[in-house]
Amino acid sequence: MGQKMSELPFYKPHGNEIELFEHAYRNRLPLLIKGPTGCGKTRFVSHMAMKLGLPLYTVACHDDLTAADLVGRHLIGDGVTYWNDGPLTRAVREGGICYLDEVVEARKDTTVVLHPLSDDRRILPIERTGEILDAPPEFMLVVSYNPGYQNFLKGMKPSTRQRFVSLRFDFPASELEQQIVIGETGADAMLSKRLVNLANSLRALKEHDLEEAASTRLLVYTATLIGSGFDPVEACRAALVEPLTDDEETAEALMEIVYASF
Ligand code: ADP
Repeated sequence: MGQKMSELPFYKPHGNEIELFEHAYRNRLPLLIKGPTGCGKTRFVSHMAMKLGLPLYTVACHDDLTAADLVGRHLIGDGVTYWNDGPLTRAVREGGICYLDEVVEARKDTTVVLHPLSDDRRILPIERTGEILDAPPEFMLVVSYNPGYQNFLKGMKPSTRQRFVSLRFDFPASELEQQIVIGETGADAMLSKRLVNLANSLRALKEHDLEEAASTRLLVYTATLIGSGFDPVEACRAALVEPLTDDEETAEALMEIVYASF
């Protein structure tokens, strides 16, 4: 939060992911990061981009995202048609990281451009201009998705998945998550411990009631509200419980756990 782009974004590693990223980058291998929402994937990638001194192009993928959105398109301005590079093309030309968040959401035609870039060819054919770009050594493709979403149809095809070195993220261990909450919000040790314990109790219910578990992001929001003077129980309701469910009964059941924690 509040990180200037000139500073290394605060990131607490879970394990050996920084080393793996550096090896993948040096060896020109693309990287896939799997993990639930809000567990630090995006933060990790911005940290690594800054650490390696690379420009970062982030694309939040959605179900209308096409290959042209990544590669570029012709635009018309002042009566003339000109070519406008998309974020993937820019990252290739400039030599930087292109990070496709929730890549499984994108339209299937995007695999046509991702495949030749993510194997040893490392080329980006731009069909509409006839150009074929060779990716420089500084280019790296990083994609992420959340395997927890109950969307089997949208899972990644093996032929795509097998082009990437893969890393699995999960919610951080308690001690680490406490340090993240402290580092992000300046919360004291007692509050961060209480919030992490609460999140772990909520996560234990995950299989029964909820689509998604409470994320580190939500803990950071909660600690931020409390830190600015908002009532702790109400902060938990607004930042930890309501974002997890629309069902009132479930929300009340979750609030019982909150009451027991404060
Ligand atoms: P994702 O991309 O996995 O959905 P983010 O990277 O956006 O999640 O993380 C959400 C928030 O959680 C971040 O903005 C940051 O505040 C916090 N966070 C999660 N993991 C870490 C970590 N390992 N180090 C520092 N902050 C983290």
